[in-house]
Amino acid sequence: MGKVRILAEDLVSLISAGEVIENPSSIVKELIENSLDAGATMIDIAINEGGIHSIVISDNGSGILREDCPICLLRHSTSKINTKEDIEEISTYGFRGEALASISAVADIKITTQTEEEETGSLLIARFGEAPNVTETSRAKGTTIEVTDLFKNIPARRKHLASERVESQRIQEVVMKQAAILPEIGFRFQRDGNTIIDCPPNQSASDRIASLWGIDIAKSLVIVDYSSGNIKISGFVATPPVSRGNRSREYFSILKRPITDERLSQAVESAYSTTLMKGQYPVCALDISMELSKVDVNVHPTKREVRILDIDKVSDAVKEAVRKAFGKSDDVLETVTLQASLDETIETISVESISELSQAPSKQAHQKQIESALLVEQTILAPSSVEGKEDSEVDFLGGVVKIIGQIHNLYILIETEEGLLIVDQHAAHERVLYEQLRTEVTQDRVAVEELLEPFILSLSPKDAEQIVDVADILESIGFTITSFGGNEISISTLPEILGRVASETELLTLVDRILDIGSKESVDTFKDDLVKVTACHSAVRAGQSLNTEEIREIITELATTKSKFNCCHGRPSMLRIRKEDIDRSVGRMGAAAIARYKARHRIE
Ligand code: ADP
Ligand code: MG
Repeated sequence: MGKVRILAEDLVSLISAGEVIENPSSIVKELIENSLDAGATMIDIAINEGGIHSIVISDNGSGILREDCPICLLRHSTSKINTKEDIEEISTYGFRGEALASISAVADIKITTQTEEEETGSLLIARFGEAPNVTETSRAKGTTIEVTDLFKNIPARRKHLASERVESQRIQEVVMKQAAILPEIGFRFQRDGNTIIDCPPNQSASDRIASLWGIDIAKSLVIVDYSSGNIKISGFVATPPVSRGNRSREYFSILKRPITDERLSQAVESAYSTTLMKGQYPVCALDISMELSKVDVNVHPTKREVRILDIDKVSDAVKEAVRKAFGKSDDVLETVTLQASLDETIETISVESISELSQAPSKQAHQKQIESALLVEQTILAPSSVEGKEDSEVDFLGGVVKIIGQIHNLYILIETEEGLLIVDQHAAHERVLYEQLRTEVTQDRVAVEELLEPFILSLSPKDAEQIVDVADILESIGFTITSFGGNEISISTLPEILGRVASETELLTLVDRILDIGSKESVDTFKDDLVKVTACHSAVRAGQSLNTEEIREIITELATTKSKFNCCHGRPSMLRIRKEDIDRSVGRMGAAAIARYKARHRIE
């Protein structure tokens, strides 16, 4: 007997369910889309235990006819397409007729619904493995879908879900992204009984973003409204310095479908160019509208990926749209070119005489450029001078070394008996502070700075909640963080090492990095990572000018650290160059070396 067999229907539906339902957030996404397709103007989402225990979505849409109730749970049952042509030009979110079928294959479903056409509503209960049962009920027009006990019947899938907190956050992100695009639709999101998002219908686009991202970001937004040919880009970009330490606030959608696309992110980032510091990412919400036929929403079962047929053209349009939005595309460009030619000027300045340079084209911008070039040049040529011999000597690496100075506001030069040490000032200081704070944390005696006035940071509701969730752990390293209601948090104490550099922007970036660490880790690893990012933020920066006294302090402290040769992220913190190697490189050989050379080659 052969081995190939046709799979039983229930197995087939389980397998295909896996393509659509990856986790609770994919259920929420599908159900929100169904409500939107039903013309709802208000969508209420409530989840419990990361959506694993329950997801309840209510809308005020068209409702489902009694006779359609049992059918809508079957695979490939849809009210949205009829003919082959419909597939070419899909304007609804759903069309495959798979979502409800897939959900009912992996969870219990209860649907309460009422249409305008029928007098009484319907209640459909579909328990896993049982035939669905439809009875009468009454409610206002619309539909409520309740999904409970996800993957109860498939322990293997349940095991692969993330923690409740992570699953809740994924769901919240789905709701936020959808709500950002559709300010005309009301969204409410409750997590374990707490209202996290509450956006009324018919908000203005900027009010919607303010409700979701907080007023501080909203205040910095510039409207994007751009079209080129058939491509139209609309939405918002935040003006620097408002930015994020990751891409979590780069929202994109195509034809009001949320998407993520590396190319689009890069396009926006390149439009900001040098106006954002390295490691900082734009905050934006941009919707791209273009001909439906140029977009293929059919690529991925969860419709998460949308294929744009002409991505180059779209990316260019996005970049141009953002530049224009700053209302000063030329200014932005000028900053870029200024920076580029500044770099060139610095390279050539040593071969040109200063008087020649000052006769350069008299355009104001160019003059400014030269002035700043000269300024930079002076700093480079005149490293902090060594103030008195004693001051410059430090015990380091088992001997006395001599601080020569700082170059490029970035490296510390030290003469050792062996040769030369080039120390990365940030990496070295970060190592010092990391070991210091780590010891304080392990011994539970963190030096804390009480702030006279707490910092109030405005985050997204999701970020605020995530930070408050780990407030206990943050407290153990010196941060006192409390929820300040809604999406604001208050920080009233800081680890002392951070105190001297703390500013609102600094703390926002730090919060982003903390959020980036994620929560999959054990508490100990999480704590260690927190200590690392705190040390990183507290340490002197590249670009900061240091005097000999400050250098001495760093080197003296570095001498006491356990792993002085690397920063806490593993990057080398210094480069050692032996004098012999310098000698060899310039063709200078000492008498001893010449003797060794002669002996080895038996030269008399
Ligand atoms: P699809 O959305 O691809 O059509 P689904 O499995 O998601 O497939 O839904 C099946 C059908 O159930 C839909 O075509 C629609 O007719 C009906 N339906 C589902 N959810 C709702 C809702 N919230 N309001 C009205 N009708 C709904
Ligand atoms: Mg659907």
